Amino acid sequence: MQYVSTRGLAAPQSFSQILLGGLAPDGGLYLPSVYPQISGAELDAWRKLSYADLAFEVLKKFATDIPEQDLRALAHKTYTADVYCNAREGEKAADITPLRVLEEQGGGKLVLQALSNGPTLAFKDMAMQLLGNLFEYTLARQDAELNIFGATSGDTGSAAEYAMRGKKGIRVFMLSPHKKMSAFQTAQMFSLQDPNIFNIAVQGVFDDCQDMVKAVSNDLEFKARQKIGTVNSINWARVVAQVVYYVRGYLSATTSNDQKVSFTVPSGNFGNICAGHIARMMGVPIDRLVAATNENDVLDEFFRTGVYRVRKSSETYHTTSPSMDISKASNFERFVYDLLDRDAGRVRALFRKVETHGGFDLSGAPGSDGDEFRKIAQYGFASGKSVHQDRVNTIRDVHEKYGVTIDTHTADGVKVAREHMTPGTTMIVLETALPAKFNETIREALGRDADRPAGFENIEALPQRFEVMAADVGQVKAFIAAHTGLA
Ligand SMILES: *Cc1c(COP(=O)(O)O)cnc(C)c1O
Repeated sequence: MQYVSTRGLAAPQSFSQILLGGLAPDGGLYLPSVYPQISGAELDAWRKLSYADLAFEVLKKFATDIPEQDLRALAHKTYTADVYCNAREGEKAADITPLRVLEEQGGGKLVLQALSNGPTLAFKDMAMQLLGNLFEYTLARQDAELNIFGATSGDTGSAAEYAMRGKKGIRVFMLSPHKKMSAFQTAQMFSLQDPNIFNIAVQGVFDDCQDMVKAVSNDLEFKARQKIGTVNSINWARVVAQVVYYVRGYLSATTSNDQKVSFTVPSGNFGNICAGHIARMMGVPIDRLVAATNENDVLDEFFRTGVYRVRKSSETYHTTSPSMDISKASNFERFVYDLLDRDAGRVRALFRKVETHGGFDLSGAPGSDGDEFRKIAQYGFASGKSVHQDRVNTIRDVHEKYGVTIDTHTADGVKVAREHMTPGTTMIVLETALPAKFNETIREALGRDADRPAGFENIEALPQRFEVMAADVGQVKAFIAAHTGLA
């Protein structure tokens, strides 16, 4: 299996070659040169597999340059009931991504698929935990080391740290805005005592942190010497790991391959739903893929109008579903590449236009950049938007009707899913976080605190390990160099 860039100007690479990297050298994103297919016979055989065995079956179609017995061992090390132990009452931890039926009417069901039972209580653990094991394995084979450097305002950074803690050959340097994260999120990250994890609290806002990451990325000499890498949402292995739970969700919700299901996905950077698109392209009988956005509705706008318009930071809102607060959707280019029948020249032109004009228009209107909007439905895509009051109402309603407390991101999903239910088709809403992480809004909706999974009761009281630093690139570089020991 070879991987090609959406912009068409990078040499094809193998899975292991792109595993540790981010963007292709031509600025594009990697995708397989053709999508591997899943046959009906395979789907039948996979119905009875454990999550780990299913993950192996899916992964081996993509990671063709990793020996199968090694890949199977990595899948089994990752997807265990011990790692995904935060299942709620009535869920089996061994199911890894258990389904919960909320409602059944006219043969159609509304179902939650729990993706947030991992160590940081959010769906990013699903892929990041595998990435930690894949990185450690690959680095050992190459006798190499890697220093992961990133910025976080919450979920991504903690998922990366929990995936990489204690891993040989890997260090993590994570910037976060000092005193700007919730007490719970701060405690999750800063309570880690592993010597390979470095939390740097920057005296500034998240944008200052991101600017510092960009400055370091642009210093190619420093990057190479310090063996700097990233784990952002465009990483291909993260996308592949996410394909697995769409297959699992489909198989768990159906009894035969004639049945179709739809998914609603709380979306920001388009990484999660992009995996759903790939599962569908591989032949999983998915009817619709519904992108749910919050007030930051770049994606909803595109799927309603065909116009993709990235937002300025002044137009990007801080919301109560903060992990979906994005100004542009970094994985969206992967879908656009397929939508344009893999015409890399046109993808190049469109994303150049994003840089020069802030977006592009595929509506087919006079003067637009194309008319591919007419093909959106063919790819199953639909969308909807949810705002703060919708989240509060949905959390309250789901709690009253079904006795389940959902988090704010999942609430955006349920709100939009309800608008897209069709008779006879099961709608699976991906539950992307547990409510304990976003307690303020739970209090607003329900007048009481969200339950915390066992072990998280006193997390804010644990000793914290972090370094406070000015928003100064020179200082951060010196700190990294001092701790990697690389001259
Ligand atoms: C990251 C995240 C999302 C958005 O996922 P994308 O892959 O960026 O679309 C939604 N909900 C939660 C809780 C997240 O952490």
